[in-house]
Amino acid sequence: MDQYGVVIDTVMIDNIVQTNAQEAAGLLNLNLVVRTLVLGLLPAWLALRYKPVIQGFKIELKSRILILLMLIMTLLAVVAPFTAGYASFIREHKITRMFANPIYFTYSGILYAVQKFKSTEVTALKQTATDTVEIGKKLKNELIILVVGETARADRFSLNGYTKETNPELRKRGVVSLTDVSACGTSTGESVPCMFSVMKRKHFDRQDALHIENALDVLAKNGVQILWRDNNSDSKGVAVRMQYEDFKSPTLNPVCDEECRDIGMLSGLDKFITAKGSKDILIVLHQMGNHGPEYYRRYPKEFERFTPTCKSSDLKNCTQQEIDNAYDNAILYTDFFLSQVIDFLKKYDDQYETAMLYVSDHGESLGEHGIYLHAAPYIVAPKEQTHIPAIVWMGQHFDYKINQLNPYRDYPLSHDDLFCMLLVGFEMDSKTCEARRNVLFQNQDFKSTREK
Ligand SMILES: [Zn+2]
Repeated sequence: MDQYGVVIDTVMIDNIVQTNAQEAAGLLNLNLVVRTLVLGLLPAWLALRYKPVIQGFKIELKSRILILLMLIMTLLAVVAPFTAGYASFIREHKITRMFANPIYFTYSGILYAVQKFKSTEVTALKQTATDTVEIGKKLKNELIILVVGETARADRFSLNGYTKETNPELRKRGVVSLTDVSACGTSTGESVPCMFSVMKRKHFDRQDALHIENALDVLAKNGVQILWRDNNSDSKGVAVRMQYEDFKSPTLNPVCDEECRDIGMLSGLDKFITAKGSKDILIVLHQMGNHGPEYYRRYPKEFERFTPTCKSSDLKNCTQQEIDNAYDNAILYTDFFLSQVIDFLKKYDDQYETAMLYVSDHGESLGEHGIYLHAAPYIVAPKEQTHIPAIVWMGQHFDYKINQLNPYRDYPLSHDDLFCMLLVGFEMDSKTCEARRNVLFQNQDFKSTREK
């Protein structure tokens, strides 16, 4: 039994399978026997004894459809006026979904069997883009920082036309904001592995992705030194073969107040870069960003510029304005964080070909159409959850120039493009990227300084 009570999930089933007779005997007591008799066997016996007579197929089908429709309508009538409350409550107490679901035990049983079956299969890592080669002559090594954002919406960036000034720092730093980028998924668990995967969104499978080399593997095999720093949950399987550092606790992160801040991930990076010497370097920083529903916790006090703010995890307790303000303050903090990433890279601008790419994992619903938070099924997901911000900054020696990229700022892109963008960024090419490369770089102006 876990801390939440009786939830028969895969972990619980594994517990049952792993338990021996002695352990089980230790749990048997009078209380358990009485409960099993009164709450289990007695109702089961009554249900069997008084089960209704089954009528013809048509009558049964009709009555079941009728009951189903009535239930759906009742559910909609009850839930619809309180979506804000339900969304935040279920988000905070995910386990309640299992309490309310009588067939969760069956579901977990099947899932457990499938997991057991899969884990016994031989799953060698499948190679990707094995024909990858470096193109052109190397003048300087690359130093690229990729920031994987969290829950940021494109339309809340003032660089994309939002009326509140949420990008005061980035605005000063000569960046390009790509305005039409869409996410691969609507949740971190889906989007993060998908954006690094060679699989495109339509064919992406999380389980398969774990056994196929991703963009980081390809870069690492071609000599790029990679570091993944995480202030979010984890890398979702992307960085398992890379140097990985956890910045969610004060052990490594020196900037922690009520929670550890994204800015802390810049600490000690100089040491990593110096140690790598003259090699290409990619640093991935996985942000806490705008993770909800407690947006007000995502930034230090001095970033509370839009007020009043929602100070509750239960969004139904707040007005729309308060929710928006808290969310926008968190964007403001990301703006500051990204500006510090750029300033950090500027120190290395003479030595390396430097660049920063920021891209969020997915967006967030903030009450539009009565929907909150994210993780809607992709096929019905509102734009707020899939339209994500992406920011590019390039140093003076980088192979491409900001004014070359600028005309393409409204070009439709997606997480599907990240794989090849990373390869191109490190001046590498593979047949895997040929088709996309032809589309993206068809314009003759858009050539690297080495190719010209
Ligand atoms: Zn996320």
